[in-house]
Amino acid sequence: MSVPFRKITQAPQDFELTKDELVFKGTLVWTGKTFIDMNFNLSGKLEVACDTCAEDFKINVKEPIHILLTNGVYDGDEVELDIVEIRNHEIDLEEILNSEIELIKSGYFYCDQCNN
Ligand SMILES: [Zn+2]
Repeated sequence: MSVPFRKITQAPQDFELTKDELVFKGTLVWTGKTFIDMNFNLSGKLEVACDTCAEDFKINVKEPIHILLTNGVYDGDEVELDIVEIRNHEIDLEEILNSEIELIKSGYFYCDQCNN
């Protein structure tokens, strides 16, 4: 699911995507300058691997996430913000969702057995 960057206005636009047992739901708003403000919740279940025994198990996810999108390469100085550069003038929601999932998976997880 892609949304053209310039189609996003200052009226918040809702989006919702699901992937496996995760729901990715939020809004896109044009800030008026440089950025599209993207606020969303990632919730549901995600399969991860235990860092001790490598067994797959599911974790509950409930993460409010706020990122800013720029159309093309960002060369400003607001480096403290979580900025995502959009290519081809299209916001690829699935790609953003996948990168957020990878980010969560890059953490450390321990299954119930290893946690005891
Ligand atoms: Zn384990």
